Amino acid sequence: MPAYDPSNIFARILRGEIPNDTVLETPHTLAFRDIRPQAPVHVLVIPKGAYVSYDDFAANAPDAEIVDFHRAVARVTRDLGVDLDQGQGFRAITNAGEHGVQEVPHFHLHILGGRSMGRMVQPG
Ligand code: AMP
Repeated sequence: MPAYDPSNIFARILRGEIPNDTVLETPHTLAFRDIRPQAPVHVLVIPKGAYVSYDDFAANAPDAEIVDFHRAVARVTRDLGVDLDQGQGFRAITNAGEHGVQEVPHFHLHILGGRSMGRMVQPG
């Protein structure tokens, strides 16, 4: 696992150095709108802890942070109306590393919805 780089843009958001459009904040998790939305709903959910990628988070975060993160995801989908009780669904994506084409090396889950998201992966 590469070392966590505390100068990444989401670490700066968490330190309050850069503004963000917050959707939800919990003790261990922050959800905010993506600055370049690719769907009517495009929110990033991030742990406040320093984890490079999903596998880093899943392997190394304390249980309380993992539970808080996933409960926050559920609240975000409900609050933004893309959950399956009141909405028409969403796609959750996380990119990791070079082959995952991860831009920001702080674990984040994209929640995309508000329209059909099409096929999951483009060829090639
Ligand atoms: P990824 O390729 O999965 O690492 O995606 C990084 C995402 O972060 C992209 O969708 C960017 O549009 C988004 N992003 C980058 N900087 C910011 C920012 N300051 N506020 C909100 N979203 C951002």
